[in-house]
Amino acid sequence: MFSRILIANRGEIALRIIRACRDLGVSTVAAYSQADRNATYLKFADERVCIGPAQSAESYLSIQNIISAAEIKNVQAIHPGYGFLAENPSFAEICHSHKIAFIGPTVDTLKLLGDKFQARKIARDNRVPVVPGSDSLVRDEVEARKVAGNIGYPVIIKAAAGGGGRGMRIAHNDMSLANAFFVAQGEAKAAFKDEGLYIEKYIERPRHVEVQILADHHGSVIHLGERDCSIQRRHQKLIEEAPCPSISDSTRDYICRAAVKLARSVGYRNAGTFEFIVDRKGNYYFIEGNARLQVEHPVTEMVTGTDIVKEQLRIASDEPLRLKQKKVKVQGTAIECRINAEDASNGFAPSAGAITKFHAPGGPGVRIDTYVHHGYEIPPNYDAMIGKLIVHQASRDEAIACMRRALHEFEIEGVKTTIPLYQRVFTDSAFVKGEFDTGFIEDLLERNR
Ligand code: ADP
Repeated sequence: MFSRILIANRGEIALRIIRACRDLGVSTVAAYSQADRNATYLKFADERVCIGPAQSAESYLSIQNIISAAEIKNVQAIHPGYGFLAENPSFAEICHSHKIAFIGPTVDTLKLLGDKFQARKIARDNRVPVVPGSDSLVRDEVEARKVAGNIGYPVIIKAAAGGGGRGMRIAHNDMSLANAFFVAQGEAKAAFKDEGLYIEKYIERPRHVEVQILADHHGSVIHLGERDCSIQRRHQKLIEEAPCPSISDSTRDYICRAAVKLARSVGYRNAGTFEFIVDRKGNYYFIEGNARLQVEHPVTEMVTGTDIVKEQLRIASDEPLRLKQKKVKVQGTAIECRINAEDASNGFAPSAGAITKFHAPGGPGVRIDTYVHHGYEIPPNYDAMIGKLIVHQASRDEAIACMRRALHEFEIEGVKTTIPLYQRVFTDSAFVKGEFDTGFIEDLLERNR
């Protein structure tokens, strides 16, 4: 095991990694930007190092600054968390060339899965179903129209390099396709510096179901079951649960095996996720692989009794997986709510500022992963997610009751949060019955308009 690592991230995930390291006796160096210099979580790391100003491009995204910090602090490895540089193959490559282990998959795997169109090809080669769509990247509107003509509207245009729900546009006819193509192309170029676009059939009201993988450097690949992440806004997840309450055992079995097969075929190492959408008839389609730790990893940890961050550290330090597939048991239901400093009643507008009151829930079955506290000033520079509320109970009904209790106890004042929205979700009869899809939040907001 490593004796000392650098954490190239911030907020709740930096603290999550600090905690795993402390349990394992690994000493931590927390990298921080000037906007985070007074953040309380930094004091839980063994050491701290400033990597630049508030702007991510000059701190959390600055490979040069992070590598310099790692060298000065003489660490053996870097944990990138999620977001920022977590899936950046150049960063992983530079870590290796400086003899610093990158806690994540190999450079080749990062390149492969970072291109969603390539990942789609790999799935097809492995006979894992993908959403009907283009066989090659679409270069212009004429090609796009041709593909849409073949698969039929509605279609979704996606950036091959896309992520975080960006670079995707839906088109319902030839007219809207032209505009959607133009907008998606602009977004792809601006956000990902890559114009590659492809087209898929837009599946109406699917469920998003994903499989957690662990793979070591000794040929062992296992899955830890699936998560349902259908409660989304603008294609970004808000609430996740494990296991998925609505798929059949045969679908579950199939997608879990497919994820292991795909992980093997790309030489996957470390923790990763293979995502699928499931249509109303129960057909499943691979959509992408995420070569990193996911925000929603705690729900899988709770139902399987594992610690995915510790597993990442063990794998990256070359230890063989101790857990065998047969020993993986999913117990009960875990649900996570992402607590975002956003105003859900106003188009999810970000709400930065000072937290004037903070009281976190507790009691049986409640886990809070957050770095914020009473008096904390949320900087405007980063993601709106300030923490995660996770519950774990023996059954889904009990997990829902527990989540209602926890949301009721949770007090955050000074900034708007998504808690009031979640209070509505957990009393909604369709949600309680497990009858929901990716259109759920939009419907809920529409009903209350
Ligand atoms: P990102 O990489 O930006 O996260 P994904 O490809 O993982 O994008 O898709 C994010 C979400 O977008 C999915 O969970 C789903 O809600 C929606 N989505 C993606 N592809 C399709 C599709 N073909 N049809 C319907 N919805 C889709």
